[in-house]
Amino acid sequence: LTILGLESSCDDTAAAVVRHVPGRAPEILSSVVAGQTALHAAYGGVVPEIAARAHAEKLDICVEEALSKAGLGLSGLEAVAVTAGPGLIGGVLSGVMCAKGIAAASGLPLIGVNHLAGHALTPRLTDQLRFPYLILLVSGGHCQFLRVNGPDDFTRLGGTIDDAPGEAFDKTARLLGLPQPGGPSVEAQAAKGDETRFALPRPLLDRQGCDMSFSGLKTAVLRARDALVADKGGLTVQDRADLCAGFQAAVRDVLAEKSRRALAEYMAGAPAEPAFAVAGGVAANKAIRAGLETVSDALGVRFTAPPLPLCTDNAAMIAWAGIELFRLGRRDDMTLAARPRWPLDRNSPALLGSGK
Ligand code: ATP
Ligand code: FE
Repeated sequence: LTILGLESSCDDTAAAVVRHVPGRAPEILSSVVAGQTALHAAYGGVVPEIAARAHAEKLDICVEEALSKAGLGLSGLEAVAVTAGPGLIGGVLSGVMCAKGIAAASGLPLIGVNHLAGHALTPRLTDQLRFPYLILLVSGGHCQFLRVNGPDDFTRLGGTIDDAPGEAFDKTARLLGLPQPGGPSVEAQAAKGDETRFALPRPLLDRQGCDMSFSGLKTAVLRARDALVADKGGLTVQDRADLCAGFQAAVRDVLAEKSRRALAEYMAGAPAEPAFAVAGGVAANKAIRAGLETVSDALGVRFTAPPLPLCTDNAAMIAWAGIELFRLGRRDDMTLAARPRWPLDRNSPALLGSGK
């Protein structure tokens, strides 16, 4: 089974071809990602209208490149899969229209994929995990625990009630005058700092369950910074490093403790091959990753993290989700709609996915 995937729900335009022969590991024949960072840089965030135009311009080029790198024409494919939500509606629409055009011209079946399902199914593409496994999606826009029961069957165990951790890293970096994206710059400073100097809060640890909160943490960094400024007129290099270390340790501790609880809930269902995966940009953080791995090891659960280019937005995950859904018999037609919101399961709050 060979499927073309398209992704355009945020600020990356992507196309990929994935092949799977049953009994063998899936193969990514090509994966093209065209970012838009430079287009949005002047505005301090993604501008939806600019993103939509750029997707509309770049999708064709990405598809052509993905097919040529895979050495295939449309006749070498079994279906076209496309992100149909959730995301910025203009971008999602561009992708869905492009996929419909390809399907209409070639007669290939069309499959609409939930972007979050794409992220959540990635550990099956990279590590062939068996259902059910537990995944923590943790990025600039998301933070949630999902039990993945099947390609189209997810149970949400909890998630952030305000900011996503990546967003908190980015805001913390801004507060301390460090470059964006904040994750890598805060991590680099934290390596030189003392995490015990500033006692930053671990929000919601006293509350039962797997819900998390990160906005108070960022406010605590702001207060600590302002206190230092009021006291000494500014921050030294060491102050900055210590604040970063304290902040990162707090995020690490919250994610580790909530993972322990999510794992306990998951293990209560006696999964045949217990596994815990983490995906999203924040999974790049070594301290956070180590915290999750320790919790996982203590419970005898296999821990995996897909390689970073497959953790962040890409189309290989959409093509792969397309393969899984195709096998379940899922086919969409020209009525496929682009959805700005698309909760993965019935436990989801209305704003699931945005984490905001
Ligand atoms: P989403 O895909 O959820 O809509 P996104 O595009 O922001 O949102 P990603 O590209 O997966 O998500 O991740 C980007 C986020 O990851 C940024 O907030 C960035 O600061 C954070 N990040 C990247 N590297 C690190 C790191 N080493 N430590 C902590 N955070 C990191
Ligand atoms: Fe994403």
